[in-house]
Amino acid sequence: MEISEFQQKMRDLYIHNDKKRGIHRTSLWLGEEMGELMSELKYSIDKIDKQAVAAEMADIYAWVASLANLLEIDLQSIILNKYDKCPKCNSDPCICEKNLP
Ligand SMILES: [Zn+2]
Repeated sequence: MEISEFQQKMRDLYIHNDKKRGIHRTSLWLGEEMGELMSELKYSIDKIDKQAVAAEMADIYAWVASLANLLEIDLQSIILNKYDKCPKCNSDPCICEKNLP
């Protein structure tokens, strides 16, 4: 499935509710899902529940798609253009290692 197909699927499933909720409240849901993902990742690597992490990642993608639909942003176009190469060093692969925090 292409990114654009996923975004269309989310539009078909949820645009009626996304429009009622609006951009601000939809962004709060995305933030909540980010918190849930971070909560799942607070454990050591051997105790992380990968299925739970994967489910939170799916939720995050869905909420990003909802926001993109509300804002009429073409996710596939922007993602593929921005990340064709590293947007910081403009290299593929990235050579930013010395800037890691
Ligand atoms: Zn880089």
